[in-house]
Amino acid sequence: MELKIYTDRLKDEQAEKFAGQVSADFLEIQEEDLTFSSPVSIRGEAYLASDHLIVRFHIETTAILPCSICNSTVEVPICLPDFMHTEPVSEIKSCVFDLVPLLREDILLQVPQFTECNGGHCPERDTMKKFTKAPSSEKEDAYFPFANLDLDTK
Ligand SMILES: [Zn+2]
Repeated sequence: MELKIYTDRLKDEQAEKFAGQVSADFLEIQEEDLTFSSPVSIRGEAYLASDHLIVRFHIETTAILPCSICNSTVEVPICLPDFMHTEPVSEIKSCVFDLVPLLREDILLQVPQFTECNGGHCPERDTMKKFTKAPSSEKEDAYFPFANLDLDTK
C-alpha cells in the first residue's frame, strides 16, 4: 500500500479507507538496539472535513529490542488502536499528504523505555535485586494519599 493521501481525490465528507501491510523499512530505524521485524499492519481512513484532512488509523507491528536487564532479545507488540491526525489542507503541498513521518513518530513513541524478557519476569532480575535497595517503605508512603481517597469515596 502507498503511504500517501491524495487530497484532490477525496470528496468532501466521503472517507477513503485504506488497509494493508508495509515493510518496516519505511521507518528507517538505524539503531543497534531497535528493529522492527514483522510488516507493519495499517488500516484506517482519510477524509476531508471543511478545510482539514482527517486521518484515522490503527497500526500494529512488533519491535525487537534488548531486555533492559539481561540484554537478550525481546519482541514487544506495538499497537496504536485508534490514532487520529488532523492536518490543515492549506499546509498540504501539491495535494499529497505523506503518512510516513507521522507513522514513524507515533510508532517510535510506543516503544517502551524499559523492556523485560520472559514476559516481564527476566530470570536475571533476582540477581539485580541483590544489588539494589528494596524500595518497600518508600513505596507505601507514596501510595498513602490514594488509600485516603479510597476511604473518602466509600
Ligand atoms: Zn532479561
